[in-house]
Amino acid sequence: MQNAETIWLTLPLPRHHRQPIPPNPPEAFPVRAKPERPWRQRCRCDLEFRVRSLQKARTRGRLADTGWEPAAVYAHLARLEDTAAMAGVPVHRVSAGNLRADALDPAHRFASMPLHVRNSSGAKGMIRRQCTREYKLDPIRRKVREVYEAAGRRPVEQWLGISLDEIGRMRTSDVRYITHRYPLVEQRMTRWDCQRWLDTHGWNSVPKSSCIGCPFHSDRQWRELRDNAPQEFADAVEFDRAIRSGHVQPDGKVQLLGEAYLHHTLVPLDEADLSTPEDRGQLNLFENDCQSGVCGL
Ligand code: SF4
Repeated sequence: MQNAETIWLTLPLPRHHRQPIPPNPPEAFPVRAKPERPWRQRCRCDLEFRVRSLQKARTRGRLADTGWEPAAVYAHLARLEDTAAMAGVPVHRVSAGNLRADALDPAHRFASMPLHVRNSSGAKGMIRRQCTREYKLDPIRRKVREVYEAAGRRPVEQWLGISLDEIGRMRTSDVRYITHRYPLVEQRMTRWDCQRWLDTHGWNSVPKSSCIGCPFHSDRQWRELRDNAPQEFADAVEFDRAIRSGHVQPDGKVQLLGEAYLHHTLVPLDEADLSTPEDRGQLNLFENDCQSGVCGL
């Protein structure tokens, strides 16, 4: 795209490594595709190309901060910002407020989290998720629009870090001035390929970005938080207790006729069974397979 404003939301790849997106995903894709050349050779000049192509394309980074990410994520973002600054690439951190504080503030209209609920009849359910749009998508869109206007309404190419495993999450843009690109899919890169790329380039402990108390956490994520960041786990436990009756509205009313929980088993987080199959004496034949593409990220 000529004279485009490029917005990247992931580590971008050099132009000469890109391939066109095939017409019929996902059936046409193999689970793991081989790179067309050996890995080391393919990525040797990566950084140089990346810096040059980003500078030419008037590239900017966008980060949506919910205010409730783990400390490891903020440390990683700081490193990303330093790296981008060395390449002369501006990075904008955007925010719609602190998600945790807003959720507990009765005076604040809150976009609901996908809390697990037991309703008054005892049935299980989940509250509709609004937080991603309000705290991530909308602030990013506002910033993209601002840059688009300031740059004389040049079309925007927005790069998104969806890997080949997640190809079902690809979407076309809902506005004409933005075109979506998926450089990792164009490169046929799975999560495992991304992990290998990061290891090779000195980024060997990249934390997963999500709110400390996100109800979408798997048991593995809760376990890692409990074992590696006990203060953050305690923060999630406290939040879990505080939202048992759901979000309180500005008029003081409680929306929920039932109970809400962060853990999918509908028990308080500090009482949830987070043990592994091995802890329970079962042999795990799957999670040790590092070729599965799900480890690391
Ligand atoms: S990480 Fe979870 S809680 Fe945070 S914005 Fe996304 S869905 Fe909502």
